[in-house]
Amino acid sequence: MQITPQQWSFWEKDLYLQGIDVTVLGAGIVGLSTAIFLKQLRPSWKIQVLDQWTLGGGATTRNAGFACFGSPTELLSDLTNQDEETTFQLVQARWNGLQLLQQTIDIGLADYTPCGGYELFFPEDAEAWERVEKQLPYFNLMTKSVTGVDHAYQVLTPGQSKLPFHDLKQVVYMHHEARIHPGKMHQLLVSKAIGLSVPVIRGIEVEHLHTDGEMVQLTTPTHGILRTRQVVVATNGFTPRLLPDLDIRPARNQVLVTEPLPDIKWDGTFHYQEGYVYFRRIGQRILLGGMRHIDRQAEMTDNLAQTTVIQEALEHFLRHRLLNGRDVRITDRWSGILGVGGQKLPILQRVAPNVIVAARLGGMGVALGTGLGRQAAELTIS
Ligand SMILES: Cc1cc2nc3c(=O)[nH]c(=O)nc-3n(C[C@H](O)[C@H](O)[C@H](O)COP(=O)(O)OP(=O)(O)OC[C@H]3O[C@@H](n4cnc5c(N)ncnc54)[C@H](O)[C@@H]3O)c2cc1C
Repeated sequence: MQITPQQWSFWEKDLYLQGIDVTVLGAGIVGLSTAIFLKQLRPSWKIQVLDQWTLGGGATTRNAGFACFGSPTELLSDLTNQDEETTFQLVQARWNGLQLLQQTIDIGLADYTPCGGYELFFPEDAEAWERVEKQLPYFNLMTKSVTGVDHAYQVLTPGQSKLPFHDLKQVVYMHHEARIHPGKMHQLLVSKAIGLSVPVIRGIEVEHLHTDGEMVQLTTPTHGILRTRQVVVATNGFTPRLLPDLDIRPARNQVLVTEPLPDIKWDGTFHYQEGYVYFRRIGQRILLGGMRHIDRQAEMTDNLAQTTVIQEALEHFLRHRLLNGRDVRITDRWSGILGVGGQKLPILQRVAPNVIVAARLGGMGVALGTGLGRQAAELTIS
């Protein structure tokens, strides 16, 4: 049954329509974290989370589950696009965000596994490797200064790494990286919010928001107009639909998962070419995703379809680099939407007296999301 504005019961109206202090738009890691921290800061406030999708979650339940803070080629790329301070501020935010996530939910229940991470270099990456090799001592120094971690990046020969990938030339090992089950992480955040009496209402899309400075009106195609004293917009890659003037654009990431492959022995989170390609194990399966850099324009979309160009490129990499030419069955394919922009730091901004935006997490939301949510909560009460 579809509840129309005329069909709200007295009780529903009382709970979900009247006297709402803050509506958080988006039930991903940022929106849920915002709601959780906000409720802890202001227990008497009436706070609710709305999401357009029945499962909620957006990129949060569709990502690869890397708990990571920056591979060397990603850092190199960041340093060409932004200054040193911003680059390592982002490393620090990722590191701190992962600690905060661990304090917020029991991440053991989300299959958190400190498996270590690797950046890989094949023959075509010789130039990138040359630059990385020169910069690694500097990256270690800077990373230590912002995280306290010693030797975050270690060079391994392919032999030392014991990785069986075809034509592998160089490896950088990042022993502090981990992997997580993003779906379970999301479920734990939802449970925590609900446990704090924050309703997480799914299946309501907000098409338009309007503020008169006192109240914000959220126009929905299915549930009429909802009113709230403040709104936190945590819609990440979908934000341009509501607030097109901000520097946030959608970027699609496509993923595939193989059938179980009993002979896989390696484990870890794997990064390739500035993080544009990534893979990991899920049990005996391989999850492989990314490649949006080979079809950049087409992937700047919030359409969740998959394309032949990207899927074939992923399959080619899988077959020739990871499986020595072997064909395997692909059991799952999906897409998710990132929020990206001219800069890599997320946007946390009060765009109107009672409208705050917390979005643009690129491919780093597992690490950045909880911290951004806490900052958004603090900004909301300021
Ligand atoms: C394929 C893929 C792999 C990734 N891998 C990793 C990784 O390994 N590690 C990592 O750190 N990050 C990764 N990321 C990035 C990470 O998933 C995101 O940065 C993070 O999930 C963003 O969280 P969020 O809460 O800001 O947005 P989302 O999780 O996208 O949540 C936004 C929510 O807003 C809702 N919404 C949007 N518009 C509206 C509207 N108008 N009305 C109502 N609801 C609305 C959406 O339905 C969505 O649920 C990956 C992303 C993708 C797509």
